[in-house]
Amino acid sequence: MNRFEKCPKCSAEFGSSTDSCPSCGLVFAKWKPPTPWLGEYEYRMVPIMEGAIAQKETATGNEAAEYLEKAVNEMARQGWEFLRVDEMSFVLSSPALFGTRVESRPVKHHVLTFRKKKNS
Ligand SMILES: [Zn+2]
Repeated sequence: MNRFEKCPKCSAEFGSSTDSCPSCGLVFAKWKPPTPWLGEYEYRMVPIMEGAIAQKETATGNEAAEYLEKAVNEMARQGWEFLRVDEMSFVLSSPALFGTRVESRPVKHHVLTFRKKKNS
């Protein structure tokens, strides 16, 4: 079913499927649906273990930034655009005696998210 709209110039009413005003001939800009963003990029998540960032003996406080910069630049050379960094933790669950399961202490992770255009 057609929606009826008003011409901004002459106020004539017309069906929304029309490209121009039937009364005054004003041509309307065609509305285009936004480019679908799903499938346009592919994403890659790179986990970083907390311990991998710094060795305590030589730590200067810049390790995290330096490590991140190195990782991001390396990925950039491969065509991956850095998008964000997230912190997440997870718990490992493994089988234990008598059919129970035992859970590890939460392991903290940083996850770098990269993206690049699909098929590039
Ligand atoms: Zn009109």
